Amino acid sequence: MAGAQGWSRFGNAAPPSETSPDNKSDDTRGGPASKIRLELGIEQDSFTSMSRLTPASRPLCMTKSKTIIIGGGVIGLCTAWQLLEAGEDVVVIDAAASGGDNGARENAGLIVPSHFIPLAAPGMLAKGLRWLLDRESPFAIRMRPSPALARWGWLFHRHSTLEHVRDCAAILRDLHLESRRMFAELADEGEHFGLVQRGLIMLCKTQHALDEEAAVARTAASLALRVDVLDATAVAKLDPDITMDVTGGVHFPDDCHLDPARLLDLLRERVIRLGGRIRHEAVVDEITRHADGTLAQARGEGFAERGSQFVIAGGIRSEALLSKLGLRLPMQPGKGYSLTLDAPAQVPQLCSLLTEAKVAVTPIGGRLRFAGTMEIGARDAGANPARLRGIIRSAGRYFPEIRPEAFDGLRPWVGHRPVSPDGLPYLGRSRRIPNLIVATGHAMMGLSLAPVTGAVVAALITGRPPFRDLSALDPERFH
Ligand SMILES: Cc1cc2nc3c(=O)[nH]c(=O)nc-3n(C[C@H](O)[C@H](O)[C@H](O)COP(=O)(O)OP(=O)(O)OC[C@H]3O[C@@H](n4cnc5c(N)ncnc54)[C@H](O)[C@@H]3O)c2cc1C
Repeated sequence: MAGAQGWSRFGNAAPPSETSPDNKSDDTRGGPASKIRLELGIEQDSFTSMSRLTPASRPLCMTKSKTIIIGGGVIGLCTAWQLLEAGEDVVVIDAAASGGDNGARENAGLIVPSHFIPLAAPGMLAKGLRWLLDRESPFAIRMRPSPALARWGWLFHRHSTLEHVRDCAAILRDLHLESRRMFAELADEGEHFGLVQRGLIMLCKTQHALDEEAAVARTAASLALRVDVLDATAVAKLDPDITMDVTGGVHFPDDCHLDPARLLDLLRERVIRLGGRIRHEAVVDEITRHADGTLAQARGEGFAERGSQFVIAGGIRSEALLSKLGLRLPMQPGKGYSLTLDAPAQVPQLCSLLTEAKVAVTPIGGRLRFAGTMEIGARDAGANPARLRGIIRSAGRYFPEIRPEAFDGLRPWVGHRPVSPDGLPYLGRSRRIPNLIVATGHAMMGLSLAPVTGAVVAALITGRPPFRDLSALDPERFH
């Protein structure tokens, strides 16, 4: 998703520069989108709600443990929230300052059950390689001689198959839907984090893109997701507050959006209110072990925290910590940007994805955020002017009233997605280190999947069964 957020659709939609007359829809060529639609045949798993797993169902033999969570981003905080709700002791250790940038603060804020196609999908590599030639394109690879990057690329290539898409679709759908339910429940409790449950529109400028999105929509329907394919008139009726220059769009009513900064602040407050402790501006550089090999203490400059369970939720920095423990989790940073207009000429009611440009658009109160770009392998915090220009230009192409000058002088926000090579998070207990749980690699879906990730970790620690089979997310699957 992200420029996001439709990243998982990289394989299924062409950027505007590729829409020449002879560049026909994948539907007519039998290309990736039609293959996914025709061959997916994904089973409609019955969706089991995590809400059934009440504290009362916790096995009597389990004793209360103290969990150390390394990383206080959206994944770490949701994990702390869920563990505390389950009655556990929790300490979160986070490198960032309180209220600082936890990696998701100004992201697009999209919650996306519509994103059931993993990043590694057929056609994705070819498209990505073509985009490498365009400096303003939404995709780039920071090429350098690096065995880790080469291995990641090889694994990505190996997983870009229809079989892989088929294997992942139901699990991604279930994870997103469960997360969405948990966000809605949090809002029902009276928590304010700007949740808007009106759906997302995949906006398409070209018929080619609309045909491809319609093909994905048919697969979504086969997965029992609600979806509507709309022409330009229907799109305008759905969101009359903004002028759009599009051929049509696909509406996913179950997607929603929120204000990520408010969510992070709320989660932090909630963790503290529930009795958790957060240690800010503390970088864990070492995790010591007991004689039997289990983890004992998380240590950094001037502090040490002892625990019985450890969760690594450090975003792109998780890989380095895990490799010190002898675990190899291939992961690359996927750098992206957002630009937020404080007083836009028009504000849509719904969030959207500019399909060909891969830019996410989110109304946040009276503000309007544009987020996009995926620079694989880029760890730095610098903003690339050409890619920012690409985002700004695409805004005006879909929304003619949003002028490029409106972005003058805006400070871009830069974030890094933790990207696994198969498009699935790393979520589960280590088989080598029994008191270690890994919760990272969510790429462009970290916000969307954060509550369910927290609930899965809490289930693992308290000994409850997970809400569905999650073996595909095994953190040691590439060992
Ligand atoms: C432009 C953009 C738009 C996006 N839009 C969306 C969206 O709409 N929806 C969505 O679902 N996702 C979106 N994402 C992705 C989402 O932001 C990430 O998936 C998410 O932030 C990952 O969360 P995390 O907690 O795993 O990692 P992070 O957010 O990176 O947090 C990790 C935390 O761990 C801390 N840490 C790391 N190592 C250590 C250590 N050794 N000791 C102590 N602390 C440590 C870091 O300081 C940080 O606070 C977007 C990303 C970008 C860049």
